[in-house]
Order: sequence, then structure tokens, then C-alpha cells
Amino acid sequence: MEVKELKDIDLSKNPVIAQMMLNNHEQIVFCNDNATGLRAIVAIHNTVLGPSLGGTRMWNYNNEMEALTDVLRLSRGMTYKSSVAGLNLGGGKAVIIGDAKKIKSEALLRRFGKFIDSLGGKYITAEDVAMSSRDMEIIKMETDHVSGLPENMGGSGDPSPVTAYGVYVSMKASAKEVWGSDSLAGKKVLVQGIGHVGEVLVSHLTKEGAKIYINDISEDRLKAVAAQYKAEVVAADKMFNLDIDIYAPCALGATVNDDTLGKLKCKIICGAANNQLANEVIHGEAVGKQGILYAPDFVVNAGGIINVYYELEGYNRERALAHAEKIYDTTFNIFQLAKKEGIPNYLAANRIAEHRIEAIARINAVL
Ligand code: NAD
Repeated sequence: MEVKELKDIDLSKNPVIAQMMLNNHEQIVFCNDNATGLRAIVAIHNTVLGPSLGGTRMWNYNNEMEALTDVLRLSRGMTYKSSVAGLNLGGGKAVIIGDAKKIKSEALLRRFGKFIDSLGGKYITAEDVAMSSRDMEIIKMETDHVSGLPENMGGSGDPSPVTAYGVYVSMKASAKEVWGSDSLAGKKVLVQGIGHVGEVLVSHLTKEGAKIYINDISEDRLKAVAAQYKAEVVAADKMFNLDIDIYAPCALGATVNDDTLGKLKCKIICGAANNQLANEVIHGEAVGKQGILYAPDFVVNAGGIINVYYELEGYNRERALAHAEKIYDTTFNIFQLAKKEGIPNYLAANRIAEHRIEAIARINAVL
């Protein structure tokens, strides 16, 4: 059976292994425990570079197929993110099916921890949607293969400052590509979402003398950040029509879509949010045609995984920040490859990630 596209698969007859073949996933582990109500799927996409690492997402999926599709997509994304960031990590992810508010309990998390432990370190978990660092502490009671622990447990704590720093240097590399100088002084930047990452990004931009516009659904956040950094608040219905230089999505995914692309006047899109392109292939190509430089999100926001990686080695924030600084060169190199090959930036980033995995697989095979 050859599987190149999802449409090649008869999901009613081949729901699992055929889907794994699509993107060459290595392993899937299904977990069930009637006593605690735990239903989880761990997907290990690729372990060529090292143990697979990726967060656990708790979500009330409508059905198993949705959960499986999500975990396969997310785990593959982690392989690319870690590879392009130059980390010795593979890609993995876990999903727990269910409403966190209703079913999350100490027993369920510890049972999940036992399942992770049974994988012997091939998968290392971390926080994701509906999971907190406190949940990681509970999982840690059953396994050492967990990261993103609070600082008082020897962990790396909140990754957001490192993520924000990565976004900032990536933005500078993008500015260098567009304007020939990486200075952001005087540049008009719209930061959508001024939460953990967005606010630290605003502080970097303020120090550099950028003109900052902010948007958020939280009035309190807007008030606080506008006052502290002298940023200008913009309403949601006005923000995509603004005359700006840089758009930094730091709230949610899919904000680069048919609707917004018709309005956006910026020269650069560079932000922390995951999956910014509503459709990677369509909008990844469309941004370039519109004369906008898109810095691929999984390259830009790798500070989070970089931070967690250094936790595995005995955490040191200086080392994590120094590694995040390399995102500048990585971003710049992606633009050069994209121009050379005549391909969209997201594809150039994918190629760099794949090339590194292939090269390391070859040296692994030598021994
Ligand atoms: P956060 O929850 O602290 O902040 C998100 C902010 O966006 C909040 O202030 C929220 O009110 C606002 N928001 C939500 N919906 C919005 C909307 N429709 N319009 C405008 N604002 C909206 O999250 P964070 O940790 O700052 O992460 C921001 C983004 O970056 C997320 O997409 C996250 O997945 C991604 N990311 C974060 C990290 C990290 O280290 N925290 C790492 C990689 C990727």
C-alpha cells in the first residue's frame, strides 16, 4: 500500500497505520484506564535526533479520529521545530481525550505518568493546552520523562521570556532581509496578544524604539501594557487595516487567512503564535506573492522548546537565551534558501529541518 495523501486512505478500514505511513510516524501508543477515565494517545514521530519531546494537550475531542489526527499532526510539527532549532530532540506529542475541568485528577495524571514511564524515555512530555506546570509536577511522581517543571523543582519555569527573545531576534533578522538593517527603531509593529510572550516582546521592542500597537481581548491587559510601555491600543476590527511595518501574531493561530491577507499592509509577519497560516500551502505561498516576508512560526517561536531542552541538561537560563539568539541566523538562512530555490519560506524551513535529520541519520548508520 502506498500512502502519499490523506485521500489515498480508506480511514474506515485503515485508520491508524495508514495514517502513520503518510508522514512516516514511528510509533503510536494508545492508553486506557477505566478506573481514572484516562484515554490518551502518545505519538512519536521521529527519534533520529534524540528522544521525542512535545507537550501533552488535554482536549474534549469529538471522537478518537479527531484526537489521532491532531496528535499525529502536532508530533510531526515538533520534529521540524526541534530539528530546525538545532536541538538533539525528536518530535512527539500526547493528547488526553476529555474535558480537563471535568475529568482531570491526580490519579488520572499519575496513571498517564506511568504510561509515559513505560516508554523508557523515548517520549518526554511537557505542558500544552489545559495542562499546567502543577500537572507536570504530578506526572513527575511517576516518571522522570517530563519537562517544563517549576523552577523550585529544578525546572526551567516559564519559557515565555526565552520564546519572546527568539521572536525578537527573528524579527530583527526579518528586518535585515527587508530593509537591509536589523534595527527596529521607528518601525511600526502590531503585537496581537500581549500575554506571557507578547508583553516581553513589547518590552524588547520598546527598548529598541519601535512604535508599538497592541490588541488583546483582555481589557485589563491592554490597560496595563499600554500604560507601562506607551503602546497604542487598536480595536480588533481596525487592526488589520493599520498602516504598519510588522505584524506579530502572539495570541492564536490561523490569523493569516484569506480575509486578513486582503487587508494586511505590513512587510513582515513574525510572531509567537503556532500555526499562523490558516492553510500552510495556500497562505504560505500567498504571503510572498503579496510582498510580505513571512518568518515561519515554528522557527520563530522555538524559544519554548529550547528552554525545555536545557532543563534536561540541568537548567541554565543564560545557555537557553544564547541558543535562542541563534534563531536570528536560522531565520536569515531560511530566507536565503527560499530565494535561491524559489520556494516559500515555510518550505525552506521544512527543507532545512529534513536535511538535518537525513544527515544525522546517515552518521548514526555509520556505527
Ligand atoms: P498567553 O495565554 O499568556 O497570552 C495570549 C494572549 O492573547 C492573552 O493575553 C489573551 O487574552 C490574548 N488573546 C486570546 N485570544 C485573542 C484574540 N482573539 N485576539 C486578541 N488577543 C487574544 O499565551 P502565551 O504564552 O503568551 O503564548 C502566545 C502564543 O504563542 C500562543 O499561541 C502560544 O501557543 C504560542 N507559543 C507560546 C510559547 C511560550 O513559551 N509561551 C512558545 C511557543 C509558542
